[in-house]
Amino acid sequence: LLRTDLLEVVNAVRQRVPKVSIITDGAHLDAPLATKLSDLGVHMVQLTLLAGGADVHDSLRGAGSFADATRAIATAAAAGLKVSASMVVTRQNYREASKVAELCFALGAQGMALSRFCSVPANHPAFERLMPSAGQVRYAAEAAAEMCESLGLPLAAALTIPRCVWGRPEHPPLRVGVCALVGSGGTLTLSPTGAVRSCSLSTRTHGTLGDEPWPTIAERLWVEELEPLRRSLPVVCEDCTFARQCLGGCRLSTRPHAAHWSAIDPLAPVTHEPADSGAT
Ligand code: SF4
Repeated sequence: LLRTDLLEVVNAVRQRVPKVSIITDGAHLDAPLATKLSDLGVHMVQLTLLAGGADVHDSLRGAGSFADATRAIATAAAAGLKVSASMVVTRQNYREASKVAELCFALGAQGMALSRFCSVPANHPAFERLMPSAGQVRYAAEAAAEMCESLGLPLAAALTIPRCVWGRPEHPPLRVGVCALVGSGGTLTLSPTGAVRSCSLSTRTHGTLGDEPWPTIAERLWVEELEPLRRSLPVVCEDCTFARQCLGGCRLSTRPHAAHWSAIDPLAPVTHEPADSGAT
């Protein structure tokens, strides 16, 4: 939202695609800007809400960020924008999911999305501090699902979660989908300069729009990343009953841990046994 040509950019994109969504921390979303975005037909604004109160949220996101996010959700909703609040589940905040759902509802959000911490290398200090266990993700998802159902608030998964995280993998508490890199749909991540990546989690650039024709970039993206990913289900997933629905969880979350495409999502329990029942 710091771009001085933001409205121009939104307007140009809006002419070409049916739905434009904006993901922001909300720090610069005031009422006049929210009204302009609404007038331009922005489909949705997504903000991050990590806890039901400032203490936990600000400890993860920085001082003052809870106030920014909550003010922005209320401001955007009042301007008529559809608002979804996304909670990234970590080891630090997994008990907050029910409170986040209540707060979303109170602020006028029309939906909540649960995401999961996407892992950093296991030797990074943030890994021990933030990487949740399967039980903690399940705790957060079940609490959010229960509260959202009681409030009539739609709940979605912002990033796929492996089926073996759930106590009953055939009945996840929320619709989890599959990783966009190996599923039938597809999205791309573009930098402000036009650099093309497969996903916002990927550090690999396959070319820059404007420098090369799109078919050249698309071919490189397929050969270097998408095709090897689709060819290589994680080894431990090959005999899994849920492999066809799950496709191995979030496929890029393995990359900080393993150099090959066939490593398993670090959130998945390492055996095929049902996930543990405690939030540990
Ligand atoms: S074992 Fe693999 S395919 Fe099966 S549910 Fe877990 S991550 Fe998904």
